[in-house]
Amino acid sequence: MPIYKAPLEDVNFLLNDVFQIDRYDNLPGFSDASADVREAILGEAAKLSEEVLQPLNRVGDLEGCVRHDDNSVTTPKGFKAAFKQVAEGGWLGLSVPTEYGGQGLPITLSQTVTEFQCSANMAFSMYGGLTVGALLVHGTPEQKAMYVPKMVAGEWTGTMNLTEPQCGTDLGLLRTKAVKQGDGSYKITGTKIFISAGEHDLTDNIIHLVLARIEGAPAGIKGVSLFVVPKFLVNADGSLGQRNGVTCGSIEHKMGIHGNSTCVMNYDAATGWLIGEENKGMQGMFVMMNEARLGVAVQGLAQSEVAYQNAAAYARDRLQGRALSGVKAPDKPADPIIVHPDVRRTLLTIRSFNEAARAMVVWTSLKSDVAHRSSDPKDRQAADDHMGLMTPIMKGFLTETGFANAVQAQQMYGGHGYIAEQGMEQFVRDARIAMIYEGANGIQALDLVGRKLPRDGGRAVMAFFGEIGAFAKEHGGDEAMKPFVAPLSNALGHLQQATTWLMQNAMMKPDNAGAAATDYMHLFGLVTLGYMWAKMAKVANDKIASDGASPYLTTKLVTGRFFMERVLPATTTHLARIQSGSATIMELAADAF
Ligand SMILES: Cc1cc2nc3c(=O)[nH]c(=O)nc-3n(C[C@H](O)[C@H](O)[C@H](O)COP(=O)(O)OP(=O)(O)OC[C@H]3O[C@@H](n4cnc5c(N)ncnc54)[C@H](O)[C@@H]3O)c2cc1C
Repeated sequence: MPIYKAPLEDVNFLLNDVFQIDRYDNLPGFSDASADVREAILGEAAKLSEEVLQPLNRVGDLEGCVRHDDNSVTTPKGFKAAFKQVAEGGWLGLSVPTEYGGQGLPITLSQTVTEFQCSANMAFSMYGGLTVGALLVHGTPEQKAMYVPKMVAGEWTGTMNLTEPQCGTDLGLLRTKAVKQGDGSYKITGTKIFISAGEHDLTDNIIHLVLARIEGAPAGIKGVSLFVVPKFLVNADGSLGQRNGVTCGSIEHKMGIHGNSTCVMNYDAATGWLIGEENKGMQGMFVMMNEARLGVAVQGLAQSEVAYQNAAAYARDRLQGRALSGVKAPDKPADPIIVHPDVRRTLLTIRSFNEAARAMVVWTSLKSDVAHRSSDPKDRQAADDHMGLMTPIMKGFLTETGFANAVQAQQMYGGHGYIAEQGMEQFVRDARIAMIYEGANGIQALDLVGRKLPRDGGRAVMAFFGEIGAFAKEHGGDEAMKPFVAPLSNALGHLQQATTWLMQNAMMKPDNAGAAATDYMHLFGLVTLGYMWAKMAKVANDKIASDGASPYLTTKLVTGRFFMERVLPATTTHLARIQSGSATIMELAADAF
């Protein structure tokens, strides 16, 4: 049976020491999240994840969801009671504004809770993944009042309906149509596929946000609008009315996240209402997709973390062979595999990613708090720039590395990792989808290179370079920081060279940008993690100097040094690949593949 322990000590180090979240007390909601309150909330979140959600992870995988002849869907045993507990605990609205029934606490805190829940049970956590962002930003006051509080309370859940059989990445191809009615509503008709949590038995109502094309709208992406389509129509007093014309046609049988219902949704003249303006649906959808992309990035980290915890425990326990440097457990027939350098290399690779990726999530979540809550327009803009730049990197890099790490953790079990009983193959299967949905990772890389990098004359990327450069300058002379600052500066140099190469070679020849994109995303992700390690090392060194060493801080520094020595040098390879251009990649004719 797999284990999971929420990484509370690590989270507290990040919130209290590295990012000093109390410095943000001027932002709404932060003074309500004092150190004691945070500790209490995170402690409860850990308990819920470890004791309620994690035990349901394997049940969900084995049972999956079942669709019945009446189009209803039953979730795995225990999911309904657990969802009620999550809803009643107020966990769904942790950072939603209080006026909509949320607790208004920092997004940084809710992202941390999301990590715990995703590690414990990724499929379950997706039901509560709120889709209220688009409603909050683009909905009318009436729409917000009607839907958001119920979703925050966990009485209703939400979905995002973009994908159709012929239309995935290229949303301009979508065919679902909307016909305007005399009363201002629309009749929505079409088929959506792969809709997460499209139908289930956890709540009384499901609020679908649906992309559709209004009759007569322009072709392509410019003619797409966003609609809210509830499963049950809602009366003026908030009670449930008539059943709407939206049903689950089938559920997909898939590789992982079996506990989450992935549905084909049929819209048969279903009644919907426009969100935002006609033909401007992508604006609303982007609000939701950006939130969801960060959520998916956290899924990558979360699966890597839980897989690591199990692999480390197994490696301490499993006896095979003897240490190269001499017997370590003479009382046993063999040494535990944790003595072998290759096993340690693998575990440290995963761990050094997890801790820096968690720091990256906290760093970016704080920017999200500033972007949404600061009263200073300059701060808001800088934070928004950072979010725009980091979103595709986090989605693409954290999920791709998270999946690779789940595979590496599985490898620590040898053949036992391939056997279902140990739970490792479930982590691998569950982690895989995060690389695909919310925009496949190749598309994230293109978004980074094609849109985010050049946006506003490269303002966001220049700020990023400036911040790391200033850090390296400030701490470069500090002897204790040399193992961190020197490799970070080297890696930053690679990223800057790659950026210059793109500026010089990709404008005139877009294939160079396309061919470089994935390597550039990884290069950027690695440099960011390197910076996170340098920041953490500085704080750890300072704490050791003032309060003395502790096992936590010593382990932190060793793990960080490993990252700098063993993981960060991959930036050299990425730079070389980028600079090789696109000529060879584009040389073969399509029928030669
Ligand atoms: C379990 C699951 C849950 C999902 N949940 C939802 C949901 O809740 N709501 C929803 O709307 N959708 C959902 N999806 C759909 C998901 O978002 C899409 O599968 C994804 O966006 C990719 O679309 P596609 O599958 O049509 O692939 P395609 O768009 O056909 O892409 C195929 C491949 O081609 C590449 N590619 C495509 N275009 C380009 C390009 N211009 N340049 C370079 N490469 C390109 C892609 O990177 C990808 O590797 C879900 C899917 C799954 C499997």
